[in-house]
Amino acid sequence: MIQPRDDLALMAGYHSPQVDVAVRLNTNEAPEPPPAGFTAAVAAAVAAVEWHRYPDRSYRALREAIAAHHGVDPDQVFAANGSNEVLQTLCLAYGGPGRTGAVFEPTYALHSHICRITGTGVATGERTEDLALDLDEVRRVLGESEPAITFLASPNNPTGMLDDEATVRAVLDLVPGLLVVDEAYGQFAPWSALELVSDERPLVVTRTYSKTWSMAAARLGYLVGPRQLVAQLDQVVLPYHLDAVTQAAGRIALDFADEMRARVAGLVEERGRLVARLSELPVTVWPSAANFVLFRPETKDGAKVWQALLDRSVLVRDFSSRPRLDGCLRVTIGTPAEDDAFLAALEEVLS
Ligand code: PMP
Repeated sequence: MIQPRDDLALMAGYHSPQVDVAVRLNTNEAPEPPPAGFTAAVAAAVAAVEWHRYPDRSYRALREAIAAHHGVDPDQVFAANGSNEVLQTLCLAYGGPGRTGAVFEPTYALHSHICRITGTGVATGERTEDLALDLDEVRRVLGESEPAITFLASPNNPTGMLDDEATVRAVLDLVPGLLVVDEAYGQFAPWSALELVSDERPLVVTRTYSKTWSMAAARLGYLVGPRQLVAQLDQVVLPYHLDAVTQAAGRIALDFADEMRARVAGLVEERGRLVARLSELPVTVWPSAANFVLFRPETKDGAKVWQALLDRSVLVRDFSSRPRLDGCLRVTIGTPAEDDAFLAALEEVLS
């Protein structure tokens, strides 16, 4: 049998179990489908697709809609199949053999994973004991490894913690290459690094339609960055990578921005309620600026608690055996009814 590249052989891959449960709070999706008007408009757009033709290679209408949504120029926008593909395209363009990406653990596992599958070396820094970014450690890692790409997820996954403006500016001053601020959960946070993007700064901010826009099924993400960088990514990504249906769905979704903002506000409020209730239980809870919350049962027996929740048809994400996250679980903010079911199950399991 043919074997994969040696440097891929030891990688575990990235899996979150997809099991049938009543309450699914494990992958940070939106708890509700998009508005009915969105589904109808996408159906009409699908009916109008010229199936025998390649889609618009430069996805102009989508680019313009995203740019208008953020008040930037369309030439500052690059989109792909999920923000994961945006990150992969960045690694293909600016990483690769002989180059390094820096990550600060614990963080989103795909940052180092995508580095490895693109042949990019990984330099790993540590967050503090309370899982916050440590600027001295950032300085040390960047000084030692001179990374081509430095990754921050803000809010960070799975901790939910936000890097504020002063922190992002400080890291930007330190990076020898590109700084990627992954804002997959940016809409749930009080501050965004989008305001720092300019043609003069080596900074990109990535976003996704998978969470706020209730469109995880579509696979669409994008970045806002310097024009020159966007032009380079256009040359690296495969031709016609974004299909016609995804382009239409992404453009149409932005017509529903007001509904989506209202939903985000509702989820942020629900997050407050969930955190308050969790704080009354024997668990440690981290402050979250995202649509999920990291917590650790005081018994530190995260895996057992995870299984006991699953036995009650509640699925959360198990990080208990991940280095630095000993005993931790992560729960996505769902509907109030889903969250109540989770809280009732957790209370029962911990009592
Ligand atoms: N970045 C972070 C921090 C994430 O948590 C996720 C989703 N788990 C992604 C990127 C990827 O999102 P998608 O590929 O669905 O756009």
